[in-house]
Order: sequence, then structure tokens, then C-alpha cells
Amino acid sequence: MNADSRLFECREEILSLTMWLANVNSIVNTEGEKVIAHAIHTHLASLDYFRNYPSHLAIVQTEDDESERYNVLAFVKGEKTQNKRTVILMGHMDTVGIDDFNQEQKYAFSPEEWLQFLQSGKLELPAEVQKHAASGKWLFGRGMLDMKSGLAANLFLLSHYAQHPEELEGNLLLLAECDEEDGSHGVLSALKTLKQWKKEHDFQYAAVINSDFVAPLHNGDANRYVYKGTVGKLLPSFFVTGAETHVGAPFEGIDPNFIIAELTKQICYNPELVNEALGETTKPPVSLKQVDLKPVYTVQTALSAFAYYNFFTHSWTPEEVLSKLKKKQKSRLPIA
Ligand SMILES: [Zn+2]
Repeated sequence: MNADSRLFECREEILSLTMWLANVNSIVNTEGEKVIAHAIHTHLASLDYFRNYPSHLAIVQTEDDESERYNVLAFVKGEKTQNKRTVILMGHMDTVGIDDFNQEQKYAFSPEEWLQFLQSGKLELPAEVQKHAASGKWLFGRGMLDMKSGLAANLFLLSHYAQHPEELEGNLLLLAECDEEDGSHGVLSALKTLKQWKKEHDFQYAAVINSDFVAPLHNGDANRYVYKGTVGKLLPSFFVTGAETHVGAPFEGIDPNFIIAELTKQICYNPELVNEALGETTKPPVSLKQVDLKPVYTVQTALSAFAYYNFFTHSWTPEEVLSKLKKKQKSRLPIA
């Protein structure tokens, strides 16, 4: 088989795996997470390799989790040379919700119908999206990009080497994890199996490849990036208590929403809060939640409010971030 036809075959197979995965509604914290894990497990279990080596495949329930959900893990031992070195292919099976599809939620997990609908012109689309839809070269649908297509590529690679272990030096391990979009119960629970297999099979974990999506750095950026290393993510949170008062006597108290608003103004998009390392800077913090704790409408001001912010780091420790933010809280607030 020549390289071109081999490439075509890869593409077709990854495409069909992507469509199969995208058809499963696996929104985080729903039953769908269970469904997709079992589907992937059943798919792998049907391969001759895993029939011969059933202990090389596992579906493992998460720990300390309020939801019932599972990770799927599998590995192929290379037979080209005996080698401890093991590469982990990592990808999540869950997706975010579909509220943003509004009235068209029925299409979220039906990429073909969704594309037809987008091509029909019934929906007003940005010019670039319109162009992509018309070209037929792009796929649409919840999770298509983040990250069923990446997961499909991982499954393809594992399946390929399961059929040809004689081509593989070292070992290839697949981790398909749940709950990436929320509490990370999946990856945290998976550590146990990874450690257990490391011991049992004398694996030396050499690299982890996370095939989640990457985005263009600016409009029209056609590059496709491979990022080395990793970025830290923190979630600094503020709880603010005010002093309640009647709206008719606003200066008798202090509104916690006013304080939180000022904090958000100081923190969100602030270039002083990006962490530079080796010429690369993190994205600045943005708020992921900002809310007061008053349950219903009244003419009394809120008693308390809270906010939390996404905060990426390259080198700063949580302690350093905390001290930077405490400084903001102290020095820049209007009432400090
Ligand atoms: Zn993702």
C-alpha cells in the first residue's frame, strides 16, 4: 500500500470514528458519560488483540464522585523490541452542554443534519462559518472539535498498533477519561490504574499526548500548533460580605456587588496578571462566576457575593498568585 492510500485510509477511519463518537450525547454530568465509556470499551473489546489480552483493557468507575461514570484505559505492548517506554494517548469523552444551540438543540449530536441545516441558510451565520459550511470540508456539532475528533485519532492509533504490535517499539496506552469539562474526577481517578499498570508491567511513562483542540492565535492564523509542556490553572475565589441596607438609604450599608464588580474590573483581562515564561505568556484571567447570594428580589441590598476567576500560570505558585490578588484587593478597591 502506498503512502497516499494509507493516508486516505487513516483519514476515512478517523472520520468515521469521529462521527460515531459525535453521535453520542456525552454532556458532562449526565448519563451520556456512562454510555460513551461503555461504547468505547465494547468497541475495543471486539478487537482480536484485546480478546487475546483482556487484562490490557479496563473500564474503571471514578472514585469519590457523586455521579456514576467511567474511564476507559487500554494498552498495546510493542513487539518490535522489548521496551519499557510507554506513551500515553490522552483524551476526554465528555462535552460541554448544548444551551448555545438554542432552538436547534436537536442537531447538536447529528453532525450531518446540522451541516445540512447550516447550509440551508435558515440561520444567520458569520461569513467565515458560512464559507466553511458551504465548502463541505468542515464538520460541525457539539464535541466535534473538543474533542471527539482527537479521541478518534487516539482510538485509531491504538487500534492500528493492536493489529500490528510488531510495528511498535515501546508501549502505547490509551486513556479516555470522563468529567474533563467539570470536576476532573476522570483523570484524577485514572492515576490509580496508571500507577498500578506501571508496577505490574514495568512501564516507564515517557510522554503524554493530549489531543484536545488547539485554536488559532489570531484571526486568519492557519498554523496548527503542537504545544510542549503544560499550563497551570488556578481558580482564585473571593467571598465578599457587605452590610445590608434599604435601597432608600444606600450609604447606611455597603453593597457587596459593588466590591465584587471592582475586583472583576481589576482582575479580568489585566495584562499585569499574565505569567510569562520563555517568551510565552498565559492568557489573562477572566471571571467564570460572579454572583450575589440573595435568593429573591427584595429592596434590601445583598448580604454577600462571590466571584471566581480562571487564572493560568506558567511558573507562579498558587501562593504567588494569591499574594498578587490580595494586593489588588487591598490597594485598588474604592473603599480600601
Ligand atoms: Zn477539551
